[in-house]
Amino acid sequence: MNRVALITGASRGIGRGIALALARLGHDLVLNYAGRADAAAETAGACRETARAAGHQIRAEPCQADISRAEDRQRLLDFARSNFGRLDLLVNNAGVAPSLRADILEATEESFDRVLAINLKGPYFLTQAAARWMIEQVQSAPPEQPRPKIVIISSISAYTASVNRGDYCLSKAALSMMTRLFAVRLADHGIGVYEIRPGVIATDMTAAVREKYDKLIADGLTPIRRWGTPEDIGRAVAAIAQDLFPFSTGEVFNVDGGFHLHRL
Ligand code: NAP
Repeated sequence: MNRVALITGASRGIGRGIALALARLGHDLVLNYAGRADAAAETAGACRETARAAGHQIRAEPCQADISRAEDRQRLLDFARSNFGRLDLLVNNAGVAPSLRADILEATEESFDRVLAINLKGPYFLTQAAARWMIEQVQSAPPEQPRPKIVIISSISAYTASVNRGDYCLSKAALSMMTRLFAVRLADHGIGVYEIRPGVIATDMTAAVREKYDKLIADGLTPIRRWGTPEDIGRAVAAIAQDLFPFSTGEVFNVDGGFHLHRL
């Protein structure tokens, strides 16, 4: 039986990279998206094809749901339960940048509410509901069965102050605490919780600032002088999915070209 992974924001960018990496491992996939049904369908097809090329037969099903809405989160989990019956990996990836990069002396409550609802409230309550399901699953599974896992995609913005997107930075800093909270709470159930902090990754989210970052990277922003790719993040999630870190939980994986290293 294939393992089952649910990835939020899987239609494009980093979520798509994660989906492809898990397809390569032979996971069945629930591919959540917000509005881009076309992109989600394309990703689902690419996942099936990638799995086939790696010798696996998988199911990859898109599911529309706005993770900031309680009823959508419930519908997403109901979809996973009724179509796949189990959940081995939840990847909280969906997230948005503020619609407008505004200085923290000017930024609006409207932007704050939107960004925090999608980037923090959504993953927090989705994880809560998924964790309850995973606990049920663990309690009825034989002890040798691999335990479910939860991955949280935060950002270097969890600890880097960008005063033109304070709401985004706050949401990502809070995801770091969320990782620790759920890691502690779920450890007795054998459910590992991990945070991945991507650096500057080439996706639609960073398309508007591509030239700015091209220059910063060329000037040495990161010790590894290149853009990160969705595949870089996919590889990190795949490592976690393969049970390679059984004595680690609440761990932070920096996938950032070394951005986090202080230098002198
Ligand atoms: P992206 O290219 O803009 O893709 C965003 C994905 O999230 C899309 O699949 C989108 O679905 C989905 N989404 C947006 N709002 C949603 C909602 N309310 N409910 C469900 N899904 C929603 O972004 P990305 O660059 O891949 O970023 C993915 C994650 O990595 C985010 O959490 C982001 O903060 C984080 N991150 C990105 C970078 C970077 O440099 N790119 C760096 C650090 C961290 P639709 O296609 O339907 O719109």
